[in-house]
Amino acid sequence: MQTTQRTLPAKKRLALVAHDHMKQQLIAWSEARREQLSQHRLFATGTTGALLAQQLDLPIQCLLSGPMGGDQQLGALIAEGKIDMLVFFWDPLDAVPHDPDVKALLRLAAVWNIPVATNRVTADFLLDSKHMNQAYETSIPDYANYLKGRT
Ligand code: PGA
Repeated sequence: MQTTQRTLPAKKRLALVAHDHMKQQLIAWSEARREQLSQHRLFATGTTGALLAQQLDLPIQCLLSGPMGGDQQLGALIAEGKIDMLVFFWDPLDAVPHDPDVKALLRLAAVWNIPVATNRVTADFLLDSKHMNQAYETSIPDYANYLKGRT
């Protein structure tokens, strides 16, 4: 697959998602990181977003609840280049009914080469990175070229 360049902006469009048993952990992390999060544009799946909006008093664009299609909405936004980073506290100790959607979301994040944190320590590492508040040049699949090769 040929690649092309894309710039992740200084002000990131950051998606936040947590499975039910992980929501308290994401809320606690987000409260601790509120100041930094407030410098970016926040997106979240339905329940996660509603809880975070209450706790943080920050604007959050809420999608559908994950099991109702929210993970797929996020995946579509990632594929369209409209999400720059994903913090997804998925639950490694519990099965969820929308496991295929979870897998698809993580897969698209890998395809489109965005930074992803799936636990608190990685989320801390990402937020402490100098790239968080600067534009960052990254490579993504060259979709126009991909299509040309198939038609
Ligand atoms: P929720 O969805 O924020 O609506 O709970 C998260 C998920 O389970 O993917």
